[in-house]
Amino acid sequence: MKIDIVSVFPEYFEVLNLSLLGKAQEKGLVEVTAHNLRDWTHDVHHSVDDTPVGGGAGMVMKPEVWSECLDELLHLEPTTVTCDSTADADDTASADAAEPAESATEIAANADTVPATDRPVLIFPNPSAPLFTQQDATELSHADHLLFGCGRYEGYDARIPRYYRAQGVDVREYSIGDYVLNGGEVAVSVMLEAITRLLPGFMGNAASIVEESYTGENALLEHRQYTKPADWRGIKVPDVLLSGDHAKVDRFRRDEALAKTNELRPDLIEALDCSKLDKADRKTLMALGWEVSGAHPRQR
Ligand code: SAM
Repeated sequence: MKIDIVSVFPEYFEVLNLSLLGKAQEKGLVEVTAHNLRDWTHDVHHSVDDTPVGGGAGMVMKPEVWSECLDELLHLEPTTVTCDSTADADDTASADAAEPAESATEIAANADTVPATDRPVLIFPNPSAPLFTQQDATELSHADHLLFGCGRYEGYDARIPRYYRAQGVDVREYSIGDYVLNGGEVAVSVMLEAITRLLPGFMGNAASIVEESYTGENALLEHRQYTKPADWRGIKVPDVLLSGDHAKVDRFRRDEALAKTNELRPDLIEALDCSKLDKADRKTLMALGWEVSGAHPRQR
């Protein structure tokens, strides 16, 4: 997988040379290049921002600098597109586009879609975009080329994602949570780590990503984990985990995952497909107060 990152602080991404992502780069599984957006400026101050049109606090990232950079990295020629300047960027991109394009909202609804491997995916972190999820990470782990653009200041000019959607580029905007960071660098690191650890050969033990929180069709939170000693400072691990009975251990862990998810993320229980639950799952959920006779569990 080829990964390009554009930022005004490319040094921030030196940390990606550490740990498993560093090893994945050494093995040739991923090739990460961090570019400095200022390399595409032409003025003496290397400015990438300007005052907001309409007034207001702060500065906004200029579209001209971004487009010179992105055109080069995406091998596109500069052109002019016809867009309604009053329309909302995400929701109207495909209507405005010279070619059919997908909005971030449409993509979130079709998160199982595998990106076409022959075209790059352009990703902008944005606190007002749909939340980045494990499903998005799984989907993007199938792409050949990801290009991340890190916003700073008050953010990037809203026409940038619209323009590239209109060019037929697969453009995504994602938030990593309901809070505001200083820049997109942290958000890109979060998304990158979630995506790349799903690449075949990335993890030493591939099994460790199969049964994780938020993973798979009927996603739950993972059961609690323990290691030795079995009795630590007066707190014992559950006896069944020491029994050596694998079937019992599996059932205990599954029930614990259901109970923990019920307590902390009942929305994930509500999203379960009842037809994929076994008899023991249904019994556990019923004991936790769920009705499991319909398509999805319903709280009694
Ligand atoms: N003025 C923007 C707002 O109120 O929504 C915040 C801009 S923020 C200071 C600058 C940049 O940081 C954003 O353009 C985005 O790239 C990144 N960023 C900040 N918070 C983020 C979040 N929760 N998720 C993803 N990216 C974020």
